[in-house]
Amino acid sequence: MAGGTYYVQECPTCGRSLQIRVEYLGKRVACQHCAAKFEACDPSSVNYPPMASGISLLARADELIDTVARAGKAISPGATSGSGSKC
Ligand SMILES: [Zn+2]
Repeated sequence: MAGGTYYVQECPTCGRSLQIRVEYLGKRVACQHCAAKFEACDPSSVNYPPMASGISLLARADELIDTVARAGKAISPGATSGSGSKC
């Protein structure tokens, strides 16, 4: 076997797929396309959160939107869809 084992990781800066030696895992590597430096981490490893941050960000945005929507309703109680109070 010549060379060693590679895995594919996307460059966080230019988004291109890079072949990175597994021995560089956890080390700073430089993208061969844009020369950006980033830490090599195996996407299939347990320590690597695959898109978790993005999902939590989306969830947080959802929460924020929900809060804003509720606040908007509280501020303008003009449109009450409840049953009319007839005497
Ligand atoms: Zn790059």
